[in-house]
Amino acid sequence: MSKYWSEITKKIEPYVPGEQPKDRKYIKLNTNENPYPPSPKVIEAINKEATDCLQLYPEPNCDDLRATVAKYYNLSPNQIFVGNGSDEVLAFSFMTFFNKEKPVLFADITYSFYEVYVQLFELNHKLIPLKDDFSLPVEDFITDNAGIVIANPNAPTSKPVEIDDLKRILEINKNTVVIVDEAYVDFGGTSVINLIDSYPNLLVVQTLSKSRSLAGLRVGFAFGHADLIDGLNRVKNSFNSYTIDRLAAVGAKAAFEDVEYFDTMCNKVIRTRERILPELEKLGFTVLESKTNFFFVSHKEMPAEEIFKELRANGILVRFFNKPKINNFLRISIGTDKEMDTLVETLKKIINK
Ligand SMILES: *Cc1c(COP(=O)(O)O)cnc(C)c1O
Repeated sequence: MSKYWSEITKKIEPYVPGEQPKDRKYIKLNTNENPYPPSPKVIEAINKEATDCLQLYPEPNCDDLRATVAKYYNLSPNQIFVGNGSDEVLAFSFMTFFNKEKPVLFADITYSFYEVYVQLFELNHKLIPLKDDFSLPVEDFITDNAGIVIANPNAPTSKPVEIDDLKRILEINKNTVVIVDEAYVDFGGTSVINLIDSYPNLLVVQTLSKSRSLAGLRVGFAFGHADLIDGLNRVKNSFNSYTIDRLAAVGAKAAFEDVEYFDTMCNKVIRTRERILPELEKLGFTVLESKTNFFFVSHKEMPAEEIFKELRANGILVRFFNKPKINNFLRISIGTDKEMDTLVETLKKIINK
């Protein structure tokens, strides 16, 4: 704490990402990174750009990348916004769409960055408690609000939201923006990108960090009505015209062009998930339905924190949230087949001890 800090800097509780320890080699199943590398075409594009053009500023609004993504999703480029990871896209969205008077609504158990942004931008918020089975209580979103944020599938629960429920929430909140954060949608969820023409209040946010193995490149997107995207650009261009560097722009473009690699890798993660799920159940875990690249599990006898510590001692990192309602759960990212087999073997030892 320094006397030079502003009031908000003193008050804010920053987001805490999953640990990246260097003390030994770990099997990292704690930050939902993709266990596989990005498409070789991404590396090729980045190498070429690094050789040719780094003395030049990038395109401020990523025209070339947006044209490629527009084609992929059958949208118009003016329905697409690009940001430095979807975290930045979310931050800009909170700034662009949410007023201070009424509360922003989001679930009590969801991506914890939403709560950090409401603090940072001094917004009000109201937590909507999930039902006991971690599903979304749709009727609780019928209340006056400054905007809504929903992760689908949700994190850290891995559960998908029913599309009819999202439609209902969009319909009863026509005067505020509903953000649907689809960070994990490519692992078997259902996107609502195809609804942006029908709902001018819908903003869909996606990232290249999970399904396209590019967490290190920092590229995220927002998809919505051209008016919403205009608003985002106004805020972005009042903050930093060049949030996406040249390497990220060409890498992201190459990732979208290599459709075959993308489909293959997503299916690989999904196959591993479906293979390992019954193994965890056999060990006494309750595993929530997952349409993501991670599991959210709870053991019938052994406390989550204990399993977390034992796994760590055995060189496997998973995520434990010491928070009400979920402090007996672990979030386990889907790794390679070999990593997941090691996980199952290690859990067998820990639980039968
Ligand atoms: C990982 C994640 C993000 C952020 O991803 P970026 O790396 O910033 O693109 C956003 N929302 C959810 C729910 C996530 O899990």
